[in-house]
Amino acid sequence: MHTSNKLASKKLAEASLESLYRIFTVPEAPDSTLGQIDQSISQNLAGFLQQHIVAAERDLADIERDFADPHIPEQPTFVSDQIQFVLDKLVAQSVHISAPSFVGHMTSALPYFMLPLSRIMMALNQNLVKVETSKAFTPMERQVIGMVHHLIYQQNDDFYQRWMHDRGHALGSFCSGGTIANLTALWAARNNVLAPQGDFAGLGQDGLLAGMQHYGYKGMAVLVSERGHYSLGKAADILGIGRRSLIGIETDANNKIRTDLLARKCDELKQQNIKVMAIVGIVGTSETGNVDPLDAMADIAAERGIHFHVDSAWGGPTLFSDKYRSLLKGIERADSVTLDAHKQLYVPMGAGICVFRNPETLSSVEHHAEYIIRKGSKDLGSHTVEGSRPGMAILVHSGLQIIGRQGYELLIDQGIEKARAFADMIKANPDFELISEPELNILTYRYAPADVQQALLAAPVNLRKEVNELLNGLTKRLQKTQRGLGRSFVSRTRLNPVKYDRDPVIVFRAVLANPLTTLDILTDMLAEQQEIADSPAIQELTGQIRQRLRGTEHHRE
Ligand SMILES: *Cc1c(COP(=O)(O)O)cnc(C)c1O
Repeated sequence: MHTSNKLASKKLAEASLESLYRIFTVPEAPDSTLGQIDQSISQNLAGFLQQHIVAAERDLADIERDFADPHIPEQPTFVSDQIQFVLDKLVAQSVHISAPSFVGHMTSALPYFMLPLSRIMMALNQNLVKVETSKAFTPMERQVIGMVHHLIYQQNDDFYQRWMHDRGHALGSFCSGGTIANLTALWAARNNVLAPQGDFAGLGQDGLLAGMQHYGYKGMAVLVSERGHYSLGKAADILGIGRRSLIGIETDANNKIRTDLLARKCDELKQQNIKVMAIVGIVGTSETGNVDPLDAMADIAAERGIHFHVDSAWGGPTLFSDKYRSLLKGIERADSVTLDAHKQLYVPMGAGICVFRNPETLSSVEHHAEYIIRKGSKDLGSHTVEGSRPGMAILVHSGLQIIGRQGYELLIDQGIEKARAFADMIKANPDFELISEPELNILTYRYAPADVQQALLAAPVNLRKEVNELLNGLTKRLQKTQRGLGRSFVSRTRLNPVKYDRDPVIVFRAVLANPLTTLDILTDMLAEQQEIADSPAIQELTGQIRQRLRGTEHHRE
């Protein structure tokens, strides 16, 4: 039915004020294309996605041809024609993010209530930049910030009574995601380091150069483990200190920052008169889901008076779990903390939060404008990077209410436990190799036949490097084949495992956050990967690897 000749015979509508009024005022009929889609999405989203997202992968270059025309259409298009285009060309070629066998992404399934709620949010279209355009949404967003603040810092009721709705302060900043949250935290940290003093009006007014001259610094730096998220590099760039001033500290065998090296680097920089404006700890590294030793990092920061930021965009919600919260010990000592709501709070994309322990910290970035966000107003726009912002906080608020602490605890616990069970499954299979143990709910592994794994351990350095390189090609090939088949998905990344003396090793990365993913699904996925590995194309690669390993043995004899 949904044939392309419908598109080919597309009729153009006549632009008229009358039809424009209509699209602003009259809803689409229930039996129209859009009306039908609308119904089927509200009644059975999973079914809709199952039916409309095609499994087979089309070449991206091919898809680009559907989007090749740079001309804005002169005449209007009928809604039904455009919706048909959306179904055929866009929905069909989307990624099935929420499928329980797609365990490679940080975005997974959404609770059903998020859909109609998002619609209410869009219908109201409140703008959180100022109270004038958001009314109750501003106090609601302040409460959400307060609740996340409390999740992390556990201050007493008096504290929140005093600060949560204070017109001169904000306990944090609600934004579009972890990137902006990290930028906001480092922005505040930077401005506090180069605060107003004497005739220097502060960095915000006089700029970075004047600030460094005033304080006599030769440079500024941010320190994070080499596993730090790339958003920190962007922040270093935007904040004017430069990406090279984001210094990556080596990690240990468990992908955690080496605090001995961190402390040494801090002191070295001080010697060189380079001001460390922040140390960043990670809760849930993007690749392996590991947690930095936050307490030890907090000590290092406190002893030197450095801003301590924690990027818990991924792992922050682990705090909901009585069982696993202790993994994050020390987070309550951070000066600022990033948490992504669109990851493990199961909110649709576009929701991140940064909170500050001290209500004064964020004041260093405060800005005002006369026609909006006036001084002394409760407008949240005075403490945000972004200007106009949607009322996404309603989705976080609703998630926190409807799922509750105990609900999130269950989600977190089962994710971590599923990851551990999957790790056991991989370890029990001699042809797969677990590369990083899950600490939270992320793990990495690769396919490597038992005899190859054996031989690799005994191989001399050069041969080992060569074979790892060959295995990398195999892993890439296998992952792409699996993705192309469209039944299941893991992402892939490159690590430098200590086990192989830091040879670059390409791995599958599984993120176990979708509550609908079962152990059976994971068993099937491993079997599918084994099946792909047994295919002639991959067997040829495995054969080459074996030959390479045998070849050298032969030479040595
Ligand atoms: C996802 C993530 C970010 C970036 O967040 P966005 O929402 O993608 O902007 C930053 N840090 C960590 C650790 C993350 O997992």
